[in-house]
Amino acid sequence: MTCVALLAFGYAPEMERNTRQRFAIREAIARAGRPLLPQEVLQAAQADAPGLGIATVYRNLRQMVEQGELRAVMLPGDSARYEACDAGHHHHFQCRACLRVFEVQACPGNLSGLAPAGFTVEDHDLTLYGRCRDCATARQPRSAPARADKPPARAGAGVQVHRRR
Ligand SMILES: [Zn+2]
Ligand SMILES: [Zn+2]
Repeated sequence: MTCVALLAFGYAPEMERNTRQRFAIREAIARAGRPLLPQEVLQAAQADAPGLGIATVYRNLRQMVEQGELRAVMLPGDSARYEACDAGHHHHFQCRACLRVFEVQACPGNLSGLAPAGFTVEDHDLTLYGRCRDCATARQPRSAPARADKPPARAGAGVQVHRRR
């Protein structure tokens, strides 16, 4: 079907809306500079795409992962967050108070020495846990976006290293 035909059938406004929604989602993740939950994407993208709904956010996130534009960040026992694929090798920090996840650009490098003798390390994943700057300085933590049921853990950074599948 040609563009003229699409216009004639009234598809153009819908295509335009889909493009605008995809753009708003992409921009929201780029602006945040940290992995976002779908609900956070929705909140951040709504200003640019009024009428955007959570189902559309989920659909776009899934498609953008399939197309290699985004990747899902899975922390143990937590919902998937989404970040741009072009970020390169990096790690994450999760605030135990507000539960937001941030990028950590530093990397300890070769972790082969942690593996048992005779094991070959091929990759690593590393997540730091503690308090973000906002929560470390604020008396009240920022409201948690999606895990309000979980009480804030005590302060202090933990480290968890687990091999990527
Ligand atoms: Zn925080
Ligand atoms: Zn690393």
